[in-house]
Amino acid sequence: MSTSASDIRQPVRNTFLVFGAPAIGEAEIQEVVDTLRSGWLGTGPRCERFEESFRQYIGCRHAIALNSCTAGLELALEAAGVGPGDEVITTPLTFCATANVIVHRGATPVFVDVERETGNIDPERVDRAVTSRTRAILPVHLYGRPCRMDELLEIGRRRGLYVIEDAAHATEAWYRGRKVGSIGDATVFSFYVTKNMTTGEGGMVTTNHDAWAEEMRVKKLHGLSKDAWKRYSADGFQPYDVLAAGYKFNMTDLQAALGIHQLARLEENLKIRQRYWAMYEEALLEMSEVVMLAKPSEDLLSVDRHARHLFTILVMPELAGMSRWEFVDALKAANIGTGIHFLALHLQTYYRDRFGHQPGAFPNAEYIAARTVSLPLSVSMSDEDVRDVISAVKSVLRRKTSTGML
Ligand SMILES: *Cc1c(COP(=O)(O)O)cnc(C)c1O
Repeated sequence: MSTSASDIRQPVRNTFLVFGAPAIGEAEIQEVVDTLRSGWLGTGPRCERFEESFRQYIGCRHAIALNSCTAGLELALEAAGVGPGDEVITTPLTFCATANVIVHRGATPVFVDVERETGNIDPERVDRAVTSRTRAILPVHLYGRPCRMDELLEIGRRRGLYVIEDAAHATEAWYRGRKVGSIGDATVFSFYVTKNMTTGEGGMVTTNHDAWAEEMRVKKLHGLSKDAWKRYSADGFQPYDVLAAGYKFNMTDLQAALGIHQLARLEENLKIRQRYWAMYEEALLEMSEVVMLAKPSEDLLSVDRHARHLFTILVMPELAGMSRWEFVDALKAANIGTGIHFLALHLQTYYRDRFGHQPGAFPNAEYIAARTVSLPLSVSMSDEDVRDVISAVKSVLRRKTSTGML
């Protein structure tokens, strides 16, 4: 078999495999059509239905549907009283939204390093980073793996801090027998297109604090008093009051129409991704050029659950004979789309300039950020698609290594 350099650039399939393509069923399509025909497109009865199903799925006191996870993070920080001069401890290995919302509150994001084995925030480092200005901890359940919540909650209790979770990756996750979304002070989920369930754009915040829920409900819709969305319904126009300078963060019934049916299929879709995950794991275990993060803990499988949002590998440049970007390029040429989750946030221009972060500040996050590649892991894929990804990864690495390029 030829091992010329051009071989690396051969597609393994005829069509491009889009990373994170959503799986939309007939039920969603019909519900959207019904919503359009109902004449009620904005926040309304379908949002209420979706919130109640989601609340029951999580097992918490309140679930509030929003137009994004980012909006929910901002509302939760505001409910926690985070404001100018405060510090919020979070991870540098996350999407920028996690820290941007802290900045929006006039507060300072204080990054602490992650665990090399999981990519999740390291509770010991969180404890050491607490100051008199710290008001909250904002962990991210990275890739779908729950953070060490017992330790984080214990730090929160001991030091008087709220714990607000970014669960954008972790809708199906469990931690020590408790559902993520029912554990911390507030938890925020994302229904962005690439996430485990989608409403196109959308999010949900859950909490067990009645007062927080009340505040977030009002602030998500301009600060209008309760049930103001009904002001054009058959109940007739009721006088409302403006209780706060709120936001335009509400979900619409068109989005909820998708969410209701995406939620109904969430658990069966997880089983499909668990199976694809196992196929990847088995195929890639033997390849020294790539390394996987720690396996989701098997012994705790009955009480801990990884939501299998992102299957990531670390490309080891010395062993692979190519950089992470060259690997991503070669996969693209093979017609396989990939993702990067994430580039180190503290080294992005804004965070560098504003807070003076330097390379080397968070070695574990930087190590993962420099090597990580997310392989497609979507229910819209077939078994054949998964096999295509595996053979593309293998042929890209084997050919590159055997030609001794670079
Ligand atoms: C997707 C994502 C968000 C933002 O979610 P939106 O619904 O797009 O606002 C926040 N945090 C993490 C870790 C994410 O992956």
